[in-house]
Amino acid sequence: MTAYVLEDRFVGSMLGTALGDALGAPFEGRARVTVPEVENLIAGRGQLRYTDDTHMSIGLAQSLVARRGLDEDHLAQTLAENHGLEPWRGYGEGSARVFRLIRSGVHWREAAVQVNPGGSYGNGGAIRVAPLGLFYFDRLRELELAAERQSAVTHANSLGKEGAVLQAAAVAYALRSDPRKPVDISQFLGYLGSLARSKVYREKLRSLKDLVEQSCPWQSELAHRGNQGVEMEQEMARVRAALGNGVTAHDSVVTALYFFLTSPDAFLPGIIRAISLGGDTDSIAAMTGAITGARLGRGAIPPELEGRLENHSLIEEMGTRLYEIKAGF
Ligand SMILES: [Mg+2]
Repeated sequence: MTAYVLEDRFVGSMLGTALGDALGAPFEGRARVTVPEVENLIAGRGQLRYTDDTHMSIGLAQSLVARRGLDEDHLAQTLAENHGLEPWRGYGEGSARVFRLIRSGVHWREAAVQVNPGGSYGNGGAIRVAPLGLFYFDRLRELELAAERQSAVTHANSLGKEGAVLQAAAVAYALRSDPRKPVDISQFLGYLGSLARSKVYREKLRSLKDLVEQSCPWQSELAHRGNQGVEMEQEMARVRAALGNGVTAHDSVVTALYFFLTSPDAFLPGIIRAISLGGDTDSIAAMTGAITGARLGRGAIPPELEGRLENHSLIEEMGTRLYEIKAGF
């Protein structure tokens, strides 16, 4: 893999998170969304504004760059300070309370327990984790531990941490995959299955395998157009029932994997279909975009969408900086 291509894919994953998030955000919480509604947003000219998902992934990238690896104390401070600067980004109330406590001087371990004694199992640890999946893509054992540790800063429940591990592993796998060849679905599921500890994730990964086998192949950029109407609604109903579309990690992380595995070779179809599922649209599309972006790189992202994305230069720069540290610059 040439250096240039790898850098392009680091940037692609950062942008993929942000564009999935920004395109999904206007539809968050809806029971269902039609493909033309999402396409209208894509065809528009307005600025694409991201939410907490991207804001936290920028914070994680900033901290990884500053510390050249994961340092939870530094990460907690960075996330808390960023939240204080832009608290209006749609943060979940639990995360917002943790960040306010950290800013008031409470240690993050204490803050997370004060807010949620059992630890949160929301998807906050997973939606921001892409930069860590990129940073540790060539050290998979470290990736697993680091993904758990970064989640624990706000989402300490084992289900929240496990979701972060699976999402980080998916980003790393996509980055290592050869985009000229089809994704090896059984190898991908074998790897993620080896990381799943709890019953709920193991069962959902088994359902994911069945659902992917039932789905049509989504190889072309326009493939999603062929699946509108009843057939698509049936597919979405199966995905909602088997994998979920909610704000908990176990109801959203495996769902994003589905949209990657069924649209791995073009940037937008997976994101559009993830949004059409309804529910936690910004987070599921952000996670889908992070994985697809790591496989296909910035070159696969329509330049006009990148240009409409709020703060896109900062987001691109974080991908480049992460890459440069990996490359030893
Ligand atoms: Mg959000």
